[in-house]
Amino acid sequence: MRYHLTPVRMAIINKSTNKKGTLLHCWWECKLVQPLWRTVWRCLRKLYIELLYDPTIPLLGIYPDKTFLKKDTCTHMFIAALFTIAKTWKQPKCPLTDNWIRKMWYIYPMEYDSAIKKDDIMPFAATWMELETLILSEVSQKEKDKYQMISLISGI
Ligand SMILES: [Zn+2]
Repeated sequence: MRYHLTPVRMAIINKSTNKKGTLLHCWWECKLVQPLWRTVWRCLRKLYIELLYDPTIPLLGIYPDKTFLKKDTCTHMFIAALFTIAKTWKQPKCPLTDNWIRKMWYIYPMEYDSAIKKDDIMPFAATWMELETLILSEVSQKEKDKYQMISLISGI
């Protein structure tokens, strides 16, 4: 449980703790965050994305294959997961899949705006259509209605 305090606090509590090791624990190794990462990977497979189950990919953005095309999709999913993990850091519980999905859903309109500005709307639209299907397959009906409402409001 105390591992879910911030690394700085951890360092104060336990001076002998290796800071790097603690960070990796908080973001990846901990048994409380592993279920979320496993869900992320399960979703990637549903999108036909085969990636090594390796923390350097989501945490450092280092992809083993430089020509990897679905990088943007993965990056969005990873950022949402990292936000979700950071939010539950001080609580002795697992970061929830629902929270992760919600986070992805909120990134959507922001990314849409920046895609329009960069005149990059086509690849963006394709990616998000895939993600939208995935998100809706992961959430409950109650949540679904809510997401579709948000879609309507943001005019996507
Ligand atoms: Zn832990």
